[in-house]
Amino acid sequence: MPEGDTVYRVAQQQHAALAGKVLTGFELRVPRFATSDLTGQTIHEVVSRGKHLLHRIGDYTLHTHLKMEGMWRVFTPGEPWRRPEFHARAVLTTADLVSVGFELGITELVPRHEEATVVGHLGPDLLGPDWDAKEAIRRLLASPDTSVFVALLDQRNLAGIGNEFANELCFVRGLLPTQAVSEVKDLPALMKLAERMLHANKARTTRSSTGDLRPGRTSWVHGRRGLPCRRCGTRLLGTELGPELQKRQVAWCPHCQR
Ligand SMILES: [Zn+2]
Repeated sequence: MPEGDTVYRVAQQQHAALAGKVLTGFELRVPRFATSDLTGQTIHEVVSRGKHLLHRIGDYTLHTHLKMEGMWRVFTPGEPWRRPEFHARAVLTTADLVSVGFELGITELVPRHEEATVVGHLGPDLLGPDWDAKEAIRRLLASPDTSVFVALLDQRNLAGIGNEFANELCFVRGLLPTQAVSEVKDLPALMKLAERMLHANKARTTRSSTGDLRPGRTSWVHGRRGLPCRRCGTRLLGTELGPELQKRQVAWCPHCQR
């Protein structure tokens, strides 16, 4: 599932392909915006904000979110998309390429000055130029009884962490995922590690928190429930945490994380 590192990379690829170019075609294949047309407008830039993507075009912002299955792909004109046409949600055409957003979880167009209505709720972005660890900690501690695992996933506290990073951060810091965020001894160190993990992964396609990129070796605990801990050999435990309908798989080592 895309996390902040993946979305950051998509934004960079989209920016490299599109920035400064004029749209010769624009199509949003969602009912609410089906008649929107930005043809003739210039694509100024493409940036990520946590797990959200912002294409800034003319005086508008195209706001998209990959959610589970979404992706953006760039094609030359006439090149086959190799995906079902009906999966396309956004089609941006310039003189020399076509950029298509497939199976996007969110596709919406807002006036630039209203961008805050779609991403203003987000906490500081771990990969953003305005990352602010102190502010993230202030937000984390505003709900002191929330488990550290759930608090890390709440994009209103800090933006960019998904299920995999939340699992791995708890392991590397020796934290039981269910412990209250207010009981975490060194939140600044946790923030530093989160920042380091996302930056280390933003430029590579294989996500790893162990430093090992070989298949099956990229995570300490994520997706490894029931398997032996890589550090001490104890069998990893697992459960689901989070609000109803947003439950996430969590795994931990009962010896290394207390
Ligand atoms: Zn262990």
